[in-house]
Amino acid sequence: MSILLKGGVVVTAVDRRQLDVRIEKEKIVELGASLPIGDSQVEDVSGCFILPGFIDAHTHLQLNNGAGSSGTADNFASGSRAALANGTTTVIDMATPDKDGSLQACLDTWQRLAKGNSSCDYTFHMSIIDWNPEIKNEIAAMISAGITSFKMYMAYDNLRTTDAEIYEAMTEIKKFHGMLGVHCENGDLVNEGIKKLLKAGKTSPHYHPLSRPDAVEAEAVERYLTIADQAELPVNIVHLSTERSLEAVRRARKRGQQLYVETCPQYLVLDDHLYDAPNFEGAKYVCSPPLRSLDDQRALWEGLENGEIDTISTDHCSFNFKTQKVLGIDDFSKIPNGMPGVETRPQLIYTAGVASKRISLETMVGLLAENIARQFDLFPQKGIVQVGSDADLVVWNPAAKGVISATTQLQNVDYTPYEGIETQGQAQSVFLRGQKVAENGKVLQEKKGQFVFRTTK
Ligand SMILES: [Zn+2]
Repeated sequence: MSILLKGGVVVTAVDRRQLDVRIEKEKIVELGASLPIGDSQVEDVSGCFILPGFIDAHTHLQLNNGAGSSGTADNFASGSRAALANGTTTVIDMATPDKDGSLQACLDTWQRLAKGNSSCDYTFHMSIIDWNPEIKNEIAAMISAGITSFKMYMAYDNLRTTDAEIYEAMTEIKKFHGMLGVHCENGDLVNEGIKKLLKAGKTSPHYHPLSRPDAVEAEAVERYLTIADQAELPVNIVHLSTERSLEAVRRARKRGQQLYVETCPQYLVLDDHLYDAPNFEGAKYVCSPPLRSLDDQRALWEGLENGEIDTISTDHCSFNFKTQKVLGIDDFSKIPNGMPGVETRPQLIYTAGVASKRISLETMVGLLAENIARQFDLFPQKGIVQVGSDADLVVWNPAAKGVISATTQLQNVDYTPYEGIETQGQAQSVFLRGQKVAENGKVLQEKKGQFVFRTTK
């Protein structure tokens, strides 16, 4: 039986129209003004917006390696369930191989972690942390397996590769029209910064941002874009956090380079004064790049308003404060890096962006869904409300109010960095491929997520 969403306003990245939406099985089958009911089951969504299911293109839902701890607090089941409750219907998780491990072994691991556990549809960015002839050959195999995007690192000694290796990987990815995203921080300078501060007895979370200042990110962004320019590959900058990096982006675009910029909610609504929270609570905000200044925050909002930033994803990577963050109580560099956030992105961006009149709802739809779908080969299956697309829909109630709190969150972690923030707007109901899977923050159906096979253009 089909379902008819009646009385809502359909929003895309460019416009909004009062349209009814008919969905049947897994797809959107009809859009129109005042559609006849026929034998459809009617959902009255008047007063609400109908948005495409949100896509989070940067999650670490279940990470057991490289984080200097016993693994993330969330796993695929808890993280994807929390995401779904507020309208995120697809995640692109970062698949990270073991050192000297093959990409195929990593893909097998991530498929196993997600299958039967994920409440969102899912795919992966494949991380390249070693570079050798075998890994090079595996890029074609990944593309054939539906994985069209890759991730590399310029920081973290256990993950990073050299500039030459990044260049060689780019030239290989380019052959298949794949996408590369890179964590941009100068790893050598980060190491030196940490060493200098610890030697001076500066061990508290206050010093985390000082060990990796904006220049360290901006230098890596500039270098990465130079390498991409040489390789002639359009690339993605993940979690861009500073004005200085945005200036490097402007220079590259001015010389005609094609590139994509992602930022995250934490850089838009939080700032670096939080590292001074008492009782070691600054550790809750330790992530890399770190939270930045209010000036950087303002620059990022301007970047969103004028279209310089293409996407907002979360970099969700959760560690418990009491048992994991505390590992760095005597040394900030031992605090596991990362923060939870997959659950709260839509209401944070709606509140701080749309309700505060900094960006339009259309812009938000682009940033959280359509632009991501286009960039990562999910469009038009995902990312837009149109006939033929998957019926991944968010019925968004702009009037709903809420307060973010660790006591009520679905993320399986003992804190939220957004504690006490009052939000406006929330997902009244969420559909995943035609099934109503969440209502008013409650998940009705879980573990229905499927792998999304992607192909490059
Ligand atoms: Zn990340």
